[in-house]
Amino acid sequence: MRQALRQARRAFVLGEAPVGAVIVRDGKIIARGRNEREAKQDPCAHAEIVVIRRAARKLGSWRLTDCALYVTLEPCAMCAGAIVLARLPRVVYAAADPKSGACGSVLNIPAEKKLNHHPAVSGGLLAAEAGQLLQDFFRAAREKKVYPRPAASLNSGVNSEQASTAQSV
Ligand SMILES: [Zn+2]
Repeated sequence: MRQALRQARRAFVLGEAPVGAVIVRDGKIIARGRNEREAKQDPCAHAEIVVIRRAARKLGSWRLTDCALYVTLEPCAMCAGAIVLARLPRVVYAAADPKSGACGSVLNIPAEKKLNHHPAVSGGLLAAEAGQLLQDFFRAAREKKVYPRPAASLNSGVNSEQASTAQSV
């Protein structure tokens, strides 16, 4: 998760909402990604989508069945869907996203019984750091009046009170 946070910080510096992700296999990071929505002007360029594509390309397989994904913000509906489609068995996220999180906050796609794959999901790992980064970003953006609306919704959606207990990756 420390490495995912590094990606999030890089996104921050580049003017992107600071969300970062890594995919781990056999204890090694095989792909890193960050939110690239502004740079690519692509609404789908979330950190999870970026890192899933990179890992699949690297492995030469769309099935990421022996990998784990670490991401600094609870995946949205699109990303949770991609996680299921990639057959990722395990997802760890940092900050919860009560506004659009789809791993338990708003929806719970990984736990949907009607789907054919159910990744194990845990949240809260380094949540305070990840949440603070998002809050800092959106506060700065509001001051510059760059993203007034996403700032209001996402900022209030981050729960920085969550415990940050476990170890880093
Ligand atoms: Zn997403």
